[in-house]
Amino acid sequence: MTTRYNRTSSEPIRFATSRRDSLLQSAAMHAQSYLHAVGDRPVKATATTEQLRRQLAASLKNEGDDPLYVLESLAEAARDGTISTQGPRYFGFVVGGSLPVATAADWLVSAWDQNVGLHVLSPFAAVIEQVASDWILQIARLPSSWSVGYVTGCTMANFTALAAARHHTLQEVGWNVEADGLFGAPPIEVIVNEESHYSIATSLRMLGLGGKRVHRVAADAQGRMRPDELAKVLRSTTGPCIVCAQAGNVNTGAFDPLEAIAAETAERGAWLHVDGAFGFWAAASPSFSHLVAGIDRADSISTDAHKWLNVPYDCGVVLCAHPQSHRSAMTLGAAYIEETPVERDSREYVPEESRRGRAVPVYAVLRSQGRVGLSQLVERCCHHARRFAEGLNEAGYEILNDVVLNQVLVSFGDAQTTRRVIAGIQAEGTCWCGGTTWQGRTAMRISVSSWATSEEDVERSLEAMIRVARAEAANDV
Ligand SMILES: *Cc1c(COP(=O)(O)O)cnc(C)c1O
Repeated sequence: MTTRYNRTSSEPIRFATSRRDSLLQSAAMHAQSYLHAVGDRPVKATATTEQLRRQLAASLKNEGDDPLYVLESLAEAARDGTISTQGPRYFGFVVGGSLPVATAADWLVSAWDQNVGLHVLSPFAAVIEQVASDWILQIARLPSSWSVGYVTGCTMANFTALAAARHHTLQEVGWNVEADGLFGAPPIEVIVNEESHYSIATSLRMLGLGGKRVHRVAADAQGRMRPDELAKVLRSTTGPCIVCAQAGNVNTGAFDPLEAIAAETAERGAWLHVDGAFGFWAAASPSFSHLVAGIDRADSISTDAHKWLNVPYDCGVVLCAHPQSHRSAMTLGAAYIEETPVERDSREYVPEESRRGRAVPVYAVLRSQGRVGLSQLVERCCHHARRFAEGLNEAGYEILNDVVLNQVLVSFGDAQTTRRVIAGIQAEGTCWCGGTTWQGRTAMRISVSSWATSEEDVERSLEAMIRVARAEAANDV
């Protein structure tokens, strides 16, 4: 079944248009059967990389394959080659699933294919983005005057926020970094939690601030930045200064004490950035919002929507208390675009120019979940995390962190044993958890961040984890 698309006649175009419906229907059908199966299949990929290569690495053809056949091939390979991160028992990294309404809205984003960089390119997307931004600000009780940008993920949100910080702190001492760069600029002191996420270092590196040229503030046993140590570092520095705190340590889930950090930072006149990739969403729950107390005193915040808000990739959000600095750091000012637009152009708040309507699935989730649904999503995940900790602890395994949010660290014994148990759990396939090192100890990390996880999934996973761990122990003797 080969269709010729490279003829000059308009026939193939009309043919393609008439087949569009069947392609979209086929995609919907494949998506449905994938998602129906995703809860029961092994969480791991069952195809080997070699098998996938054999299946997918067709030679590039002169005459292309039939589009329906292409979809079918993709669906077939994805069935065995994907990891079920969309399923209810994936607890690796901090990824989250995708709520059905978010997946569906994301399809529409592709169907509309709007370039949302400029208002004039898509008034619809511009309005959606503003509404979703207002809602996000409301969730964290932040002033509506804050500026918001939608990027690919929290790494780029950190990058954007720190670019705004770089602009702002240098402008205060009379240096225009966008125009004159960093050569000869007054040095910026960058202070980070020693347990900060590596994307902070990545961002600093890309901004010419140096991933290593930072002051690292000692953290406590849960990975929280110590305000007394921060105060010491702040006192030892002068000039432009940026402090990077975090809401939600990627291992323990712990939150830096933001009130105390904000007080120290404000006194020094430094910029406070908070990385809240997943922890930001604690703000949505009356039971957990105390963890982010003080976040409204930050100068910038980064978060992910594709983790705990459960929208598809790629979606991170940057929030900034200084719209002018945010804009100055990002604005491109291309000559063919009218100066001082009446309407907000979203490209002025992100590093990208052309991009998809990332705010649409965010809008769909926030509108359909409402405050209650969002709060329940957060609370349910945290409840599941506590149950994991309780069940593993009862079975005799050590929990290494205070389970304050959705993250659990468990040790199954010495490093080697723990690593073997993790590999065993991944191979068994009921659930998937990854390994990590926490303060010198090897641990398995359980992150509960999907809407789809039920109590039954937690019990099933606990049973599998404990069964594999006991079998490993039995093998040992
Ligand atoms: C995941 C994560 C990031 C990076 O986010 P991406 O969306 O993967 O770019 C940054 N900080 C923290 C705390 C994270 O958990």
